Amino acid sequence: AVNAAKVSGKGQVKVFSPGLLHSESSLDSFEHQLSQAASRGELVVHYQPIVSLTDLHCTGAEALVRWQHPERGLLFPGDFVALAESSNTILTMGAFVLRQACADAATWPKARRGVPLTVEVNVSARELENEHFVDSVLMSLKDSGLSPTCLVLELTESVVLESGAAMDRLETLAAHGIRIALDDFGTGYSSLVALRSLPISVVKLDASFVAGALRNPVDYIVVESTVHMSTKLGIKTIAEGVETPDQQQLLAQMGADAAQGYLYCRGLPVEQFLEWLETQSAS
Ligand code: C2E
Ligand code: MG
Ligand code: MG
Ligand code: MG
Repeated sequence: AVNAAKVSGKGQVKVFSPGLLHSESSLDSFEHQLSQAASRGELVVHYQPIVSLTDLHCTGAEALVRWQHPERGLLFPGDFVALAESSNTILTMGAFVLRQACADAATWPKARRGVPLTVEVNVSARELENEHFVDSVLMSLKDSGLSPTCLVLELTESVVLESGAAMDRLETLAAHGIRIALDDFGTGYSSLVALRSLPISVVKLDASFVAGALRNPVDYIVVESTVHMSTKLGIKTIAEGVETPDQQQLLAQMGADAAQGYLYCRGLPVEQFLEWLETQSAS
């Protein structure tokens, strides 16, 4: 529902809804197309910059998958990721995004003061439950030459606490120097347990709290407390969905480390992301 209408690369609005889907074709065939999307070269990875709230310089980017559908145009994750997650299609898709993100990030220039940019990749529960996940991550790093310290894996809280094997995989990845981020922090029922039981290095404050922080006291207090708690735990905080200078100022004042949102930039194809980086370092 959130992604009911999206602006495509050419600036046209592509309307996509489950209703439309049913009238045009069966769900089966959409699902089949999705299962073929990676091998047909229809998946694209866009990058959304993450900036330091200390100096507003880019520190890295989040990899966000898009599907260049042959008839429907550019589709966003809200249109297809849940469906991919309902089958093993998410494994193919996830592996593609991971390989592409590592390959792209390995070529990125260093940020200010010579610090390498990081790339953040979203990981679904089903991927973490798969026994080949660790190998797949390590192979993506090896083949691309990207340093493990440049890779951040983003998990949502609900993903995580299902099985001991999944938790062991996270420990193994963390031992290799890969960082783990808790995505959409505050929206899951198990945020605090996850902090206790997993090797979390980064907390991504959910956009809904960022949006609410200047409007209502509960959101304000949740954001402020999360930042304080994370700081004390040595965990980095990234605020998601920062859209206004007021939000940026509040987050910086509260001590959040970094921000991501339309105030800075949307997710962009890799060439445009690199152009954006250049304009940033020029200014
Ligand atoms: P997420 O990981 O929380 O990613 C942030 C989402 O917020 C992205 O939506 C991004 O475009 C959007 N966003 C960024 N800044 C702003 C802002 O200032 N305002 C608003 N309103 N939105 C903003 P997107 O790209 O549609 O992705 C949606 C979700 O799909 C992601 O949420 C993530 O959970 C999932 N996703 C994306 N790529 C992948 C992937 O490769 N694998 C998996 N498993 N999930 C993915
Ligand atoms: Mg994410
Ligand atoms: Mg998020
Ligand atoms: Mg989110």
